[in-house]
Amino acid sequence: MSDTYETTVGVEVHVELGTRTKMFCSCPNAPQDYPPNHASCPVCLGLPGSLPVINREAVRLGVRAALALNCTINEVIWFERKNYIYPDLVKGYQISQYVQPLGEWGWIAITGDDGKEKKVVIRRLHLEEDTARLLHVGGATHIDMNRSSTPLMEIVTEPVLKSGREAEEYVRKLRAILVYNGISRCRLQHGEMRVEANVSIAPKGSKTLGVRTEIKNQAGFNHMRSAVEYEAKRHAEVIESGGTLTQQTMGWDDVKQETFPQRSKENAHDYRYFPDPDLPPARVAPEWVDRERGAMPVPYEDYVARLREAGLSDADVDALSRNDALGFLRAASEASPDRTVLMAKRLIKDVFALSNSTNVPLDASKIGPDSFRDAVLLQESGAINAEGFRRVLDRLYNNGGAAEEIARAEDLILERNDDAARAAIVKVLAECASMVAEYRGGKTAVKNALFGRVMKELKKKGDPKAIGALLDEELNRS
Ligand SMILES: [Zn+2]
Repeated sequence: MSDTYETTVGVEVHVELGTRTKMFCSCPNAPQDYPPNHASCPVCLGLPGSLPVINREAVRLGVRAALALNCTINEVIWFERKNYIYPDLVKGYQISQYVQPLGEWGWIAITGDDGKEKKVVIRRLHLEEDTARLLHVGGATHIDMNRSSTPLMEIVTEPVLKSGREAEEYVRKLRAILVYNGISRCRLQHGEMRVEANVSIAPKGSKTLGVRTEIKNQAGFNHMRSAVEYEAKRHAEVIESGGTLTQQTMGWDDVKQETFPQRSKENAHDYRYFPDPDLPPARVAPEWVDRERGAMPVPYEDYVARLREAGLSDADVDALSRNDALGFLRAASEASPDRTVLMAKRLIKDVFALSNSTNVPLDASKIGPDSFRDAVLLQESGAINAEGFRRVLDRLYNNGGAAEEIARAEDLILERNDDAARAAIVKVLAECASMVAEYRGGKTAVKNALFGRVMKELKKKGDPKAIGALLDEELNRS
């Protein structure tokens, strides 16, 4: 089919914003932390006479996202009601943005299927509220309003992606940028990021797009890619066999590896959008946007390029990005930029090992960028050794605290006592005369064994760098 047809994909992504309160009321934005229906009020229940108020923090995060995605920010924004009936939408409408979104016409650069850089155009970025959650228990359906009206951001691309692979690269990069900039944790398994892809095919070179189907909320980015590829193939088969495609929403069955129809797709006019009469237009002051721009970290792309220039491999950068640690590394190395590579290596080797062994991801652990940096610098200065570093890190990761305090409390600070070290070395060299002879005869590898014995003699409290130097000195003394 690839010879006859061209695939076109557009992607819509919903992201939950990590604000303290909901989008239009002061209820906590923490649906899981409360028993069902214990985090709701007349506003998010949509009771008549209640008045919504725009959450400034949600707008700030939206501005931040719009800046990170190179969007133009509209100075005046407003909210519309999107009218539809669904059991999880008790008001009968969702407050969203339609005519004038917060951000427009941004882009993310990816590598296109032709190997060249491709700018994926982001048509709009808008704010809206989430729906309630339906719980199917036994034969009954219950409704939990805790999630009703929690803040959501929707990011919509132009239909410019040409394959499942391009769509996958786009959403992975989008996620990395949002996490790096502290806009959302974007954990797919918690529904903090939900992806929908629109797929259509048309004869190669055609100026018009074919009938599109939408694939709803896939569980993972690789699922989205498979679903897009499957849909493109299915469209071709329907057309080839003389059938008619209908605009509809599809689900993805990951076991059968195929899509299935869910419902017919509405058009925008079906929603009867109109400005929410309870929410006057709001001004997004350019000075406020400038302040936010000034407070943002160096752009994601630039930071990644900087790390590569500093000597990190693609695999290292990937590992940092996959573990959502780029923002953490940037914060940790801000005060000691010349130690960035060292900190990156420690993150990859030691911190990710802890996150695996404890099953606690970095952003849910107790370690902060500052305490992590202090621990790395303590070891680098020779104040603690590798074993001490691991113990400090372990404590920081699980309990938090300050690196040096932990090192002192656990008696991990090394005694830089050259006299004691030299005495231990002289003792070990005397006990291991044959190894010393081997070393002097050219078998320099035995030095490691001698070093180990000296460290043991010092009960592992010696400073390895200083001892290494002293040992060299003694061994090379003829
Ligand atoms: Zn509420």
